[in-house]
Amino acid sequence: MNIHEHQAKALLKSFGAPVAEGVAIYSADEAADAAKSLPGPLYVVKSQIHAGGRGKGKFKELGPDAKGGVRLAKSIDDVVAHAKEMLGNTLVTKQTGPAGKQVNRLYIEDGADIARELYLSLLVDRTTGRVAFVVSTEGGMDIEAVAEETPDKIISLSIDPDAGVTASDVKALSDALALTGEARNDATKLFPILYKAFTETDMSLLEVNPLIVMDNGRLRVLDAKVSFDNNAAFRHADLAPLRDMSEEDEKEIEASKFDLAYVALDGNIGCMVNGAGLAMSTMDIIKLYGAEPANFLDVGGGATTEKVTAAFKIITADPAVEGILVNIFGGIMRCDVIAEGVIAAVKEVGLKVPLVVRLEGTRVKEGKEILDKSGLNVISADDLDDAAQKIVTAVKNA
Ligand code: GDP
Ligand code: MG
Repeated sequence: MNIHEHQAKALLKSFGAPVAEGVAIYSADEAADAAKSLPGPLYVVKSQIHAGGRGKGKFKELGPDAKGGVRLAKSIDDVVAHAKEMLGNTLVTKQTGPAGKQVNRLYIEDGADIARELYLSLLVDRTTGRVAFVVSTEGGMDIEAVAEETPDKIISLSIDPDAGVTASDVKALSDALALTGEARNDATKLFPILYKAFTETDMSLLEVNPLIVMDNGRLRVLDAKVSFDNNAAFRHADLAPLRDMSEEDEKEIEASKFDLAYVALDGNIGCMVNGAGLAMSTMDIIKLYGAEPANFLDVGGGATTEKVTAAFKIITADPAVEGILVNIFGGIMRCDVIAEGVIAAVKEVGLKVPLVVRLEGTRVKEGKEILDKSGLNVISADDLDDAAQKIVTAVKNA
């Protein structure tokens, strides 16, 4: 689950991290009061969407010369003017894709005077199996270019889970960020705070870009992007209200209601598979034969007919889907249940695109019989390779 910047900052603040004062607003009417509650004279008006790159982003409706999704304002009137211009419009950034995201809330923040912009993030390092800090002195809006052109300027440090953030970790990170004076002192508190926030709330990503040294020499978290590990959501009922469904893919929301592991992708071949590994291989082999998967979908081991029906409906609801590949290896999953689910779904929503089904394993004979008797126009396949070739060919010839 991803959350908005203002929510991430409130969370980090509750752990003791230094963040600016700010107010989230949902309509331009609230802008003046929000700004008046802040010290001034510098304010920042920040689009709240679940995507980065807002500063350099462009509003679709405002044309190329208008300012981006993060704007400085020097008066309360300016704050109000920016709020009116930004709210309700669509912000396109490097991370939103060309469709962009509608800005439905803004964060009005007390502006900081910036001396240096640094990069800091925490993530799960799969190589070491530990939480790692990733830092760079070259923070700010061009971090992607730094990663591309001068990757040696990005430094990674894994944390020993038994020891936590040690004094020598703090020193190594402070050196890497060239922190001195008060900022270095602030860092001795901030690094352990961020690590604690990350581990205690089961984050999968915490990105502070930029972490700033202010003109007064102090550190501040200027931007914050947080993702939580959904597998740990049951431990954090208090975080559930932070979810903003308007930021999520409708198909993914529908899938989560049925406990389906579904990720929407950009391709044209819808996939229904059981098992994450088989689902990944199915996507790979679709690509091998020259097409692109429209989704990742693992219906799980013990799926019911209802669940399979829901999955099939989600796949067919995607207008980009030009063909469907069902690839089931029945271990715990029964092939006849899959067949019945597919038929039930087709009865409800119809079938306008080619469908290739590859069944293998438990009750495969019964499954194939059910499909044969249904009168559905199903293309049957014998193995994964055959199935992928058949669906790619069927879509090309359709
Ligand atoms: P992003 O573009 O989505 O990553 O949004 P950020 O929150 O990182 O803001 C983008 C940029 O706006 C930052 O890198 C800063 O250069 C600038 N910015 C944001 N807040 C302030 C502020 O309080 N004072 C100043 N001077 N600049 C700011
Ligand atoms: Mg940023």
